[in-house]
Amino acid sequence: MPQEIIEVAFELPSMEVVSYLCKGCGLCVTHCPQKCIEFSDQFNELGYKYAQYKGEGCTGCGICFYCCPEPGAIKVYKKVRE
Ligand code: SF4
Ligand code: SF4
Repeated sequence: MPQEIIEVAFELPSMEVVSYLCKGCGLCVTHCPQKCIEFSDQFNELGYKYAQYKGEGCTGCGICFYCCPEPGAIKVYKKVRE
């Protein structure tokens, strides 16, 4: 399996919504225990107001990832365990 080295410019843990894959169901917004996901004011290419990370507060628990019904719409970033 190919390995990748990815440098990121944000604090970890963190998350990202791939906006064009989001269908705005709100499950991640509702279930994030840290309440750090919100709806954007913008519409995506599918016509949905997509979810987005507020920019702070994520613990990397992964709940949003597991409750999202759209494959690939949510990415959670955590540090690798040494
Ligand atoms: S990983 Fe957990 S804390 Fe972070 S945004 Fe998702 S549900 Fe919230
Ligand atoms: S759970 Fe997935 S599809 Fe639903 S609002 Fe969140 S990112 Fe969008």
